[in-house]
Amino acid sequence: MNARQLQQLLERLSSLLHSENRARLNRLGLQPVQFEALQYLSLCNRYSNTPKAVAEYLGLTKGTVSQSIKVLENRGLVTKSQDTEDKRITRLQTTAMGRELVESLTPSPLLADYCNHAPPGEPEALVTQLTSLLRQVQALHQHRMFGQCHSCRHNRKLGEGRYLCQLTGESLSAPEVQLICREHEPVADS
Ligand code: SF4
Repeated sequence: MNARQLQQLLERLSSLLHSENRARLNRLGLQPVQFEALQYLSLCNRYSNTPKAVAEYLGLTKGTVSQSIKVLENRGLVTKSQDTEDKRITRLQTTAMGRELVESLTPSPLLADYCNHAPPGEPEALVTQLTSLLRQVQALHQHRMFGQCHSCRHNRKLGEGRYLCQLTGESLSAPEVQLICREHEPVADS
């Protein structure tokens, strides 16, 4: 296995998933980038729900992202509000309709079928390996990790279902630590 083979495999899988999703989104009158922004907003925490974070996560310009957000807002899938402490910051929240749409379109039927028919343990092993690939590429090129909060070095467990973000000094609930965060930093290797 070399880098070229790995690239071909990832690109082939990605185009199969994209073409499956494009057909379903066409029926709903949404473009893939709009759905990707919606999906990100359904997964991110309260420190990461800004247009800038959406652009960073998707690797797009702020202009492209703001067009997509406008469409999502007009469709009632996302709402905008001003940050309570800094009025210059716009916060984005998915509506109940937005969350229902993400639920209805994920996981991909192609991947769900694979998971139902794969040998025991294979999907879990693949997730571990692909996560490792993503993390190493991000670390080598200094991209933000956008990891799940529970795996961040700033996360401290205080008790049953109670956590503290040591970066912001704010408490976090059990559902919040499952979300992804723009400020995430992995635990350093010992
Ligand atoms: S603990 Fe880490 S991932 Fe969680 S909110 Fe704080 S900075 Fe973000």
